[in-house]
Amino acid sequence: MGTEPQLKFYNTLTREKVDFHPIDRENVRLYVCGPTVYDFAHIGNARPAIVFDVLFRLLRQVYGESHVTYVRNITDVDDKINLRALRDHPGLPLNQAIRLVTEKTETQYREDAIALGCLEPTAQPRATENIAQMIEIIEKLIAKGHAYQAAGEVLFDTKSMSDYGQLSKRNLEEQQAGARVAVDAHKKSAGDFVLWKLSDESEPGWESPWGRGRPGWHIECSAMSGHYLGDVFDIHGGGLDLIFPHHENEIAQSRCAHGTDVMANVWMHNGFLQVEGRKMSKSEGNFVTIYELLRTDKLGGRTWPGAVLRLAMLMTHYREPIDFSVKRLEEAERLLAKWPAADVGVATPDAAVVAALADDLNTVAAIQALHALAQAANADAGVLPIFAASAALLGLLPEKVEIDDAVVSEINRRVSARLELLKAKNFAEADKIREVLSAEGIQLKDGKDAATGERTTTWEVKR
Ligand code: AMP
Ligand code: ZN
Repeated sequence: MGTEPQLKFYNTLTREKVDFHPIDRENVRLYVCGPTVYDFAHIGNARPAIVFDVLFRLLRQVYGESHVTYVRNITDVDDKINLRALRDHPGLPLNQAIRLVTEKTETQYREDAIALGCLEPTAQPRATENIAQMIEIIEKLIAKGHAYQAAGEVLFDTKSMSDYGQLSKRNLEEQQAGARVAVDAHKKSAGDFVLWKLSDESEPGWESPWGRGRPGWHIECSAMSGHYLGDVFDIHGGGLDLIFPHHENEIAQSRCAHGTDVMANVWMHNGFLQVEGRKMSKSEGNFVTIYELLRTDKLGGRTWPGAVLRLAMLMTHYREPIDFSVKRLEEAERLLAKWPAADVGVATPDAAVVAALADDLNTVAAIQALHALAQAANADAGVLPIFAASAALLGLLPEKVEIDDAVVSEINRRVSARLELLKAKNFAEADKIREVLSAEGIQLKDGKDAATGERTTTWEVKR
């Protein structure tokens, strides 16, 4: 790119939009908390996947494809996973049952993310493959007086960190009153949280200096981000619900272990998504997975293409709440249908689209600019490459559909047959062919040959 846009992001840590300056522009580093793999991802989980994919694409655009490292972890140690394994595979040894649950869920998550147009992150580390790094951080925390052992657990001592609570802006008293913080007698303070807990025979466990046990949730992300991105990195992301306690505690662990002032320079959080005006929950019956939207008629009585789901998500700014509804999906679908198909080329994305994204990922303005480009490209094919590059920056490139030669000749045969019928004024039969083709996803466009004045028909595959 010629002149580089100044990226600005809203930083939850300082509660303001700030200019972004990477620590090392040769290697811009982003970490996003990934899924806990015990159940298929719901459409709410799709929001951080899509939002931070747009961020990843923008960073690659500005700093170069090979100069961005994006890590999205897989949380495959969690008591919810153990419960699910026992429920779904009661006859199997627990380790085997857990592996079945986590492998199936992880594979589905990756497929869902790809269907939603998300690039594969640079690394997708699993918690179970980073236990040694977790143990190392916990050892450092104990050595530096930030952690202690009590009642079969190693706990982080929140009072040992003078500025604990900076991200969520809660003071210790508020945290103690917080409903999500369990008050246990063995803790020095109510806000102290688990770094390691002993496992009994029936629970998964790893050998450690404190006995066979398993890590707490927060330590997993401190270990994986540190291992892949270093003690201090550029951007840490996740949903709003993770600010407290998860991200607050990641910060406490990483900063105290490594002796740094920050863990990540910028903290970005996506807002929450609800479905048809209500908070998504299994009991409400409006809990909908990405898989169900892509492959079943659970919402609106039909399936939805990944690109429609993605556009519907990006039609709202990432920090605002979203109401995911059939109406919104239909709106996204109508918009997409007006955009031309194109192949990714080497063109540079439109400056207005880049500028919109550079302004704290303003996807709403970016989509408006993209739509104007689509209209220009429909009128003038010369604009198509810029439209394609801009759509690709949002992960919204309507791709040309490849169909094989035999199918092409069969469609051509039916289109010619219809032209013959029209010539013979057999409109009813001609319309039938049009309808059958339409049901197969083939759209006909009638015109007139400029030279001969004869009726012509072209066709294209509807997306
Ligand atoms: P979980 O597997 O519950 O840890 O969630 C994975 C990611 O999805 C986290 O970044 C959450 O903040 C995010 N998330 C979960 N539910 C929603 C929702 N309804 N709307 C937006 N983001 C969500
Ligand atoms: Zn995390």
